[in-house]
Amino acid sequence: MADNIDYDNLKKRGFLRQKQDGLFLFRTRMSSGIYKKEQLDKISQIAQEFGQGFVHLTVRQGIEIPFIKFENISEVEAQLNSAQVKSGTSGARVRATTVCPGNNWCKFGLINTFALSDKMEKELGIECGLDLPSKFKIVISGCPNCCTRVQQSEIGVHGVAAGNHAIYLGGCGGRVPHTGFKLNKVFNENEVLQIIGKAVNFFKANGKSKQRLALLIEEIGKEKFLKDSGLDNV
Ligand code: SF4
Repeated sequence: MADNIDYDNLKKRGFLRQKQDGLFLFRTRMSSGIYKKEQLDKISQIAQEFGQGFVHLTVRQGIEIPFIKFENISEVEAQLNSAQVKSGTSGARVRATTVCPGNNWCKFGLINTFALSDKMEKELGIECGLDLPSKFKIVISGCPNCCTRVQQSEIGVHGVAAGNHAIYLGGCGGRVPHTGFKLNKVFNENEVLQIIGKAVNFFKANGKSKQRLALLIEEIGKEKFLKDSGLDNV
């Protein structure tokens, strides 16, 4: 392998180095975790042609195609782009938003999780791959069952009734997990989008490398975080 490879750029594009030298896995992500037949067909073909004929499902609703050779990355990327398969990512960025079906088909669903996720991406531009000081996870659940683990992500939203949402901020998993704290109101969809935007912007401006939002809040205090981010008056 050449020495001058920009691995972080490859990572941003979804190609992550494997344990095995010279081999990469490609990580997909699709909005709301929805894959159409053409995309699944393309992923299957890529795994057959450039991988080892299988894929692995990630915990964030992505699909990994392992064992891609470095020299095949450009071709794999072009083919996946042609089928509109989006790339997942890793590193200091917004990770793939994890979204349960909500009221689209789950019998417990109280809100349209797909619509909220879509607005977050299209109206706020907050989506997988957005560079931030550290990793940043957003999850959406359709009801208080919280199947996407809203308390363990930087931002966790769940439905509490039609049109009403609860929000947790500052959770994370990892070696030192933190449980997010719940904002003490319920919010409509527009307010949820405002809160997500403010929390991400605050983290972008104030976060440090490898510092999860939970640790930033711990450092400055919850009250200051809410005040300085403008979240105390949403
Ligand atoms: S969080 Fe609620 S709506 Fe979403 S999958 Fe779980 S039970 Fe269904």
